[in-house]
Amino acid sequence: MLARGTAAVWRLYPFTLILKQAVPEAETTPLRLKIDPGSKTTGLALVADVDADAGQVVWAGEVTHRGQAVHERMQIRAGIRRSRRQRNTRYRPRRFDNRRRTDDWLAPSLESRIANVETWVRRLSRLAPVAAISQELVRFDTQALVNPEVSGVEYQQGTLAGYEVREYLLEKWQRRCAYCQASGIALQVEHIVPRARGGSDRVRNLTLACETCNQRKGSRTAEEFGYPQVQAQAGQPLRDAAAVNTTRWALYRRLQQTGLPVEVGTGGRTKWNRTQRGLPKTHWLDAACVGASTPERLVVKGIHPRHIRAMGRHARQMCRMDTYGFPRTGAKATSVVGGLRTGDLVRAVVPAPSVKAGVYVGRLAVRATGSCNIATARQGVVQGIHVRHCRVLHRTDGYRYGDGDTSEGGGASSPALKGGGSAPDI
Ligand SMILES: [Zn+2]
Repeated sequence: MLARGTAAVWRLYPFTLILKQAVPEAETTPLRLKIDPGSKTTGLALVADVDADAGQVVWAGEVTHRGQAVHERMQIRAGIRRSRRQRNTRYRPRRFDNRRRTDDWLAPSLESRIANVETWVRRLSRLAPVAAISQELVRFDTQALVNPEVSGVEYQQGTLAGYEVREYLLEKWQRRCAYCQASGIALQVEHIVPRARGGSDRVRNLTLACETCNQRKGSRTAEEFGYPQVQAQAGQPLRDAAAVNTTRWALYRRLQQTGLPVEVGTGGRTKWNRTQRGLPKTHWLDAACVGASTPERLVVKGIHPRHIRAMGRHARQMCRMDTYGFPRTGAKATSVVGGLRTGDLVRAVVPAPSVKAGVYVGRLAVRATGSCNIATARQGVVQGIHVRHCRVLHRTDGYRYGDGDTSEGGGASSPALKGGGSAPDI
């Protein structure tokens, strides 16, 4: 369509085309936006229903959050404020008993994760006909387990209930071998009182063990094996607080405010769906497998997830400081020069007589003089490119983009940046 001139690039990230002529009564397939929220990375997938039992992933993305960066920034700010209070250069009343927090307050690092997901739900909804949302809310379904501490459920390997039980056990035993406390290794579901000795398949008789411990224990009970506390711990209920993830619930409430129907799924269901469909474990495939609405057959061929990294936008600090907290630089100059802003992805064409003659694609860092820097992928940072040579490819929006083979600013070789035909995101 780009080659024929019937469409133009509307946005580079996510890659979107706009048709040059209106299509009367155009029919669009409603899409389901599926989300697998994680503490470091959140998987996103747009899924279209092809027919009754098949669905196709249309677009996928993985958003890397900046929780740790936010935390570090907050630490630095706290340090600066503390030193300023001690310095006694002016009167500043102490301030610790006049703070109010709303009930839904979350730590800034957590809030930023939720904001990242909200942003992408909003952006994708604006560009694609998103009709419903699916979100992974909890690790396992307590309702499906029907109060496992009391009644228990039969554990069956390979069934959905089996996956829910497994997720429950992982949470309860903190992803460790109950006997040697080893973590980060493959764990097996293990009967505390072996079945051969009359032990049941109920959750309260199950724990997690590494292969070695499982073998060594053999047909002994946990008590005979020398671990009576495992028996005792299995009978204790899993504290609710341990299983409830505040951030995920907060995200769920925000998603409900979009007005779209929000379906929730469990981690056990996601894993089961993914295993049933023979898909490898990645954030975006996990997202595509969230919830009971996941179609029987999921077409994922040809989809490369867009890697999206949250970067933040501005620093509120007025000027840089030295080690002692005193101003080191002047106040910040303007952040907009010639209509361009630091962080904009630009393509600069510098004409021949100049020593800098050539084409540069990359992120811009504006200077008040108009002579700016461009961080390119190939030549590194190129200095002294005037803004009048620059054309914006993508305005700074708080995120950096990349994928497997072509990352952003990959020079003129990237077809999307040249305006040629590239695999479209949407
Ligand atoms: Zn072990």
